[in-house]
Amino acid sequence: MRSHHCNELRESDLGKSVELVGWVNSARDHGGVIFIDLRDREGMTQCVFRPEESAEAAKLSHSLRDEDVVQVKGVVAKRLAGAENSKMSTGTIEVVATGLTIINKADVLPFQLDKELSNEDIRMKYRYLDLRRPRMSRNIRLRSTITSAARRYLDEVGFYEIETPILSNPTPEGARDFLVPSRLNPGKFYALPQAPQQYKQLMMVAGLEKYFQIARCFRDEDLRADRQPEFTQIDIEASFIGQEDIIKLVQGLLGAMFKAGLDVDIPSEFPRMTYREAMDVYGSDKPDTRFEMKITDIADVFAATEFKIFRSVLDGGGVVRAINAKGFACVTTGQMNRLNEIAVQAGLPVKNLAFIKLENGEYKSPLWKIFNDAEKAAVTAKMNLEEGDIVFFAAGSRESVSTILGRVRTECAVMQELNKDSQKFNFLWVVDFPLLAHDEDSGDWVAVHHPFTRPHPEDIELLEKGDYANVRAVAYDVVLNGYELGGGSIRIHEKELQAKMFSVLGVTPEEQQIKFAHILDAFRFGAPPHGGLALGLDRIAMLVAGEDSIREVIAFPKNNKGADLMAQSPCEIGMKELREVYVQSTYKKKAEEKAPE
Ligand code: ASP
Repeated sequence: MRSHHCNELRESDLGKSVELVGWVNSARDHGGVIFIDLRDREGMTQCVFRPEESAEAAKLSHSLRDEDVVQVKGVVAKRLAGAENSKMSTGTIEVVATGLTIINKADVLPFQLDKELSNEDIRMKYRYLDLRRPRMSRNIRLRSTITSAARRYLDEVGFYEIETPILSNPTPEGARDFLVPSRLNPGKFYALPQAPQQYKQLMMVAGLEKYFQIARCFRDEDLRADRQPEFTQIDIEASFIGQEDIIKLVQGLLGAMFKAGLDVDIPSEFPRMTYREAMDVYGSDKPDTRFEMKITDIADVFAATEFKIFRSVLDGGGVVRAINAKGFACVTTGQMNRLNEIAVQAGLPVKNLAFIKLENGEYKSPLWKIFNDAEKAAVTAKMNLEEGDIVFFAAGSRESVSTILGRVRTECAVMQELNKDSQKFNFLWVVDFPLLAHDEDSGDWVAVHHPFTRPHPEDIELLEKGDYANVRAVAYDVVLNGYELGGGSIRIHEKELQAKMFSVLGVTPEEQQIKFAHILDAFRFGAPPHGGLALGLDRIAMLVAGEDSIREVIAFPKNNKGADLMAQSPCEIGMKELREVYVQSTYKKKAEEKAPE
């Protein structure tokens, strides 16, 4: 239907007869002559309808409305001097129309496409219109570009792209499963995969050696700006490799994706930090290192303190630490309340954060009168407390102090807009994650990554001894600007070790047989050492696009209640067939058991 797209014609095309199709982005009447900007996904071209060129087309052009779908035939001409538009790449030419076909008329749209719209519900209800807006169509294109760059890269280094089942069994990745009833097996359900973890490991046992998949994963969790119930991972697994190989591979892969998407060269090697260091210094396992505000241990300053709270914490083996929010002494009361609220949510046992600020040469602090002169001088020096700064303190266990100050650090950064620079890409590896964590509610040990993760070889003895809290894993996360882009691990490939890991996690031998017999069996038949990682494609696309929600880079996302407002999904069970499946799978079996015929 067209000879060119709408972002193609230039002065070198003057005099050519062309055909364009697209949407009427805008129509203007200049003294009886109609000008339209014709838009397709590539861009816009101005078309002008002069009666002397085609009386018929000119007449019809008066009926054009925004978003009508039209075909324009015409000749490329230079715009009159002064009528050029330097903002358009086609801005020095126009198409003088000799023919116009209205392919499909458009009603008045529920919102204007050239204005930002704060009502996200309306955007989602008419997502197909929302996606016509240049920002969204750029985002979708960027996503496609980086996805194909990833495919190309992995293909070039020898990875096979392999699909794994969507209808499968529950996968222990730490979220709730989505369940699907099986019509052919009344009373039985499939679970949608939280990740293709076990299948990809079984592929390694199968000898496929290098696998990847652009894999849709499903997790029934509460939603946030960077979470959706279904999301996409670049899922990777390889045999006969170690952590260094995965790290190298992923640095190269991300390099190729950022080059393709933004034409930037990211560092070929990312800095590394252990989990312990990340928690101690940044209070987070995915620190945003674009700003400092590091957590500093100040126990030595208060070694001889008389201040009761610090004294009892230090005597009890706890820590006293602080952060300096530089230049933030101007914090408002509202902001201070918010910071206190966040600290309390993070576990601060009192209502208010302790602080010292230095404003107009004066120290202001509820603590200042409690500290002696030596402590005051030492705190000032150690925290580099200068005019305009505010220092926040926390005392307690190492973990709780990290969590509290980590959250306060992040929130101060948001308030001070230190996290706004989307052109700065601070990649980071966080390594040596703990293998296990103690779940206070259930009293159980749970896998920090997942149950297939390999204990650190140096810590096997601790695992044997039952010192679970101190066993590290060969597990790594790749982080960018405070977001976890992905994570993975080297896996267990021995049946005995895997069974041991299950039993530490409280999975009885009987349960292991029911849930994991396939993988335990597979490890008996020559399983190679293997490992991998999964990258969150949505988050990468979000950061490449400079957006702050993954909804902006997913064509049809769900809202924060897990609903698709356009398709009205999820739906009530109303359709006859669907109801039958549910009734069959949930009740028929019970009914049969009760009344066998
Ligand atoms: N299955 C893991 C996840 O989804 C990634 C991996 O260990 O490769 O987080």
